[in-house]
Amino acid sequence: MSQTSMGREIEVTLPIGYTDEEGRHYKTVVLRKMTGKEEAILADKRNQRNGGKLVTELLHSCTVRFGDMPKNGPSVIENMYSADRNFLLLKLRNITFGSELSARYTCSSCDEIIHVTEDLDELPVRTLGEGESADDIMVELDDGYVDKDGNVHRALSLRLPTGADEAAVAPQMRQNASLGKNALLSRCLKSLGDVPRHRLEALGPKILSELTITDRRKIDRALNQAAPGVDLIREIMCPSCGATFKSSLDMTNFLSQE
Ligand SMILES: [Zn+2]
Repeated sequence: MSQTSMGREIEVTLPIGYTDEEGRHYKTVVLRKMTGKEEAILADKRNQRNGGKLVTELLHSCTVRFGDMPKNGPSVIENMYSADRNFLLLKLRNITFGSELSARYTCSSCDEIIHVTEDLDELPVRTLGEGESADDIMVELDDGYVDKDGNVHRALSLRLPTGADEAAVAPQMRQNASLGKNALLSRCLKSLGDVPRHRLEALGPKILSELTITDRRKIDRALNQAAPGVDLIREIMCPSCGATFKSSLDMTNFLSQE
């Protein structure tokens, strides 16, 4: 990471990177601090209804350079992997407001409210390793999917979600997180046993809703383990009762100065 233009800009290397239609791979992004222009993007009601779109607008607006790509429209940012987008969002927050984030957690044992000052620079970032793919995550299901002829399909492959996926499923997510997740995973589903491609596309979310909870957890774990990017799972110790528990990073104050 390096700072340029008197600390207003920063160059970062993406955990995964973006591959264009010609197969060229881009990994470095120069971001600039948020300004009043981005404050307006954040305050726009249309953006508040769709988190995926909001992140696309925000990152597009603050991206000074993306590798040696000519300045592009928002579609490049939209088609980036969510892991890279979240990483950029974190860096954007860091250069704009600093790396300290005040967070609040509720103890899972005694319900005590715990105030923590998180240091966003300390969050672990996993980079996609040599020979690893964000595009080919394999899961062997325990129970599998039973098709209408009674055949069981267990070998599932999927890719990591992108910003376009997030934006597409935002309405379902808002209504019902579980149904939203089915819609998201079905967009990322690449193959399932011998189920023909057109059946997968036609059935999509229905297949995922028919999987057992055991299998659904297995998919979650595979995605989390494979997923490069910022690790947002925090281990919190309760000062009141001494219990430790895991929680997702509290992002309530993420895009504001506290
Ligand atoms: Zn406690």
